[in-house]
Amino acid sequence: MSQVFHRHCHTPLRTAVRGDGVYIYDQNGKAYLDASGGAAVSCLGHSHAGVRAALHRQIDQLAYAHSSFFTTDVAETLATRLTDRAPGDLNHVYFLSGGSEAVEAALKLARQYFVERGEHQRVRFIARRQSYHGNTLGALAVGGNAWRRAPFAPLLTPAEHIAPCYAYRDRRPDETLFDYGQRVANELEQSLLTVGPETVIAFVAEPVVGATAGALTAVEGYYTRIREICDRYGVLLILDEVMCGMGRTGTLFAHEQEGIHADIVTVAKGLGAGYQPIGAMIASDTLYDTIADGSGFFQHGHTYMAHATAMAGSLAVLDALEQEQILARVNPMGEALMSRLKARFAEHPHVGDIRGRGLFQALELVFDRETKRPFDPRSKLDSRIKSAAMALGLMCYPMAGTIDGHRGHHILLAPPFIITESQLDELTDKLAEALDTAIA
Ligand code: PMP
Repeated sequence: MSQVFHRHCHTPLRTAVRGDGVYIYDQNGKAYLDASGGAAVSCLGHSHAGVRAALHRQIDQLAYAHSSFFTTDVAETLATRLTDRAPGDLNHVYFLSGGSEAVEAALKLARQYFVERGEHQRVRFIARRQSYHGNTLGALAVGGNAWRRAPFAPLLTPAEHIAPCYAYRDRRPDETLFDYGQRVANELEQSLLTVGPETVIAFVAEPVVGATAGALTAVEGYYTRIREICDRYGVLLILDEVMCGMGRTGTLFAHEQEGIHADIVTVAKGLGAGYQPIGAMIASDTLYDTIADGSGFFQHGHTYMAHATAMAGSLAVLDALEQEQILARVNPMGEALMSRLKARFAEHPHVGDIRGRGLFQALELVFDRETKRPFDPRSKLDSRIKSAAMALGLMCYPMAGTIDGHRGHHILLAPPFIITESQLDELTDKLAEALDTAIA
């Protein structure tokens, strides 16, 4: 009996032994095509030579120096590389070890910013239903899944949740996409006015919603309106790019495509590409300067932050994305994936929507295409698809939306950017077979 405390206590797991390109191999030598990048992590596949070499070099030289004693060249260079590319005045990078840590740091920085300005009454966040921001208590509080929050509710920071921008389900037939986006963005203003805008710290959103809604992109104009509302009421905008960032949607930062700037952006998964745990919170000049000129001390930190080996590995990830032109593959391969999905699933009786951007795509599954009625959440369709796909040697990421206020099931696809056309054929064939097996 294994002593590792696995999350699903009763589901036996295969043992992963080796990775090569877009495949992971188990203890029996069976290959699994990684169509989800794990959970949108493995952008470079599982055996990138440059990242592995950089990790070896760094670990031979210096693995770790506590961040209260030293900085390192690799941390400084990685921060510069990120801020050179980040939109607006996001010029200050705080390195952490994962996505939840990055979100947690963002929430605390936002609160401390207002405390330093004497605005102690700002105590709550507004976020969106159908979003995921992590599993630590702060990140959980802003996440949209009420069932995840429920057991811990008394321990959580106050947060309101408004509707996400979900045109497939919520746009009225007589409404243009633009008008729908404005209407749903205006819910932020209504929520602010209900709770009192002077009590709100920040609005938190994933520019492209990942795990909980399946590659849900906002309609044009939505984020511009969100930014206007935040500015009008002096509320900060925190964009969580832990899943959709680092090139996944075709640009290094997903919100570059929305033409807005954020006060804080969080990134993680793709920055480590699966080779090292890392997260980063990137803050604007205004936030940093307020703290630097005030107390001079951000009241947050972790032992492993800015770990030298992680910094070196992530620098090599950025090199691979930019210098080896791997990021440039995302849009063409994304189009190739989308055209295969459309060819295969556009007429499928249980596929209601095919959506996404870059190599971040999803199928939304419905029981009935006309009414968009979802499958019953108790059907466990997501676990049935996952089992069928794994049996066929395919890793995909099926999810049931939220259980309360259930919106349906989807399958998220986020393959490594190095995937080839023939591997996309394999992906589509196996996905179609897994879906039919699970629904039968
Ligand atoms: N934010 C988003 C948008 C995520 O998708 C995730 C992880 N799925 C997190 C935060 C939390 O990241 P981690 O699991 O690395 O703590």
